[in-house]
Amino acid sequence: MPRPRIDLHTHSTASDGTDGPAELVAVAAAAGVDVLAITDHDTTAGWAAAAAALPTGMRLVRGAEFSCVSPTGRGDRDVAVHLLGYQFDPAHPAIAAEQARLRGERVERLHRMTEKMAADGYPVDSDAVFAQLPPGASAGRPHLAQALVAAGVVGSVTEAFATLLYNGSPYYVPKCDTPVREAIAMVRAAGGVAVFAHPFARKRGRIVEPSVIAELAAAGLTGVEVDHPDHAPEDRELLRALATETGLVVTGSSDYHGTNKTTPIAAETTAAESLERLLEEATGVELLGV
Ligand code: AMP
Ligand code: FE
Ligand code: FE
Ligand code: ZN
Repeated sequence: MPRPRIDLHTHSTASDGTDGPAELVAVAAAAGVDVLAITDHDTTAGWAAAAAALPTGMRLVRGAEFSCVSPTGRGDRDVAVHLLGYQFDPAHPAIAAEQARLRGERVERLHRMTEKMAADGYPVDSDAVFAQLPPGASAGRPHLAQALVAAGVVGSVTEAFATLLYNGSPYYVPKCDTPVREAIAMVRAAGGVAVFAHPFARKRGRIVEPSVIAELAAAGLTGVEVDHPDHAPEDRELLRALATETGLVVTGSSDYHGTNKTTPIAAETTAAESLERLLEEATGVELLGV
């Protein structure tokens, strides 16, 4: 049997992707993906539709990308980081409550960002931004970026981020994210496994020291995303060595967002042995499509 194609980090319209969950599954199937994880930001709203669309022969890992904060390991102020949680029980009270809180934060902060831009004369309003969101979906800067594209202010989502929506821009408003250790504990308590998403994505701003990842490994983190489109080759090697030292499982994924980003689905993939190690520890929900 040929090596399975495994992509463990993708987004749908339940957060800031542009394909609905069913369409995401179809796009993955067309690309020859054997194992797909749906990992929308701070929501599991896409799980049911993705599961219902699962074709024979494909497996679906159910997950989410948790918005977190972490110490950097340098003693400066905390930095935003993302944590991938897989196969956790979505009804676990702590997770359900924290995801609902974060989606509320996201709505609030996107309203504030939109209002700041409107006050400076940009032709955007909250109605146009929030009209794009299906029920239960997580609002994010890409929705504001799309509204800016539609209004002709910028030519693309990428340009919107580069010129107006980047971290630290005058229009940027932070949200109150979950301390990463609490998020790891929550995912584990709900029967899931946790993987540190794109820890060395430097173009997004400051990153954590390798020592922080090692400490999280001792605090219940199971894996680290090494092969990610935003990781430079030398950073991947550093992370791979760190994973070997600390016993963390190495994953690789596309972080596909449909047309909101240029990366195709399965542009980066995870080894079958890595997936097996993750699933061994995950008991929150059944793996679908076996
Ligand atoms: P938010 O979750 O609202 O803070 O927005 C961050 C999201 O915007 C990330 O999850 C990415 O999907 C997306 N994003 C960040 N930087 C860029 C970029 N340069 N181009 C396109 N999308 C981006
Ligand atoms: Fe995103
Ligand atoms: Fe992310
Ligand atoms: Zn992501």
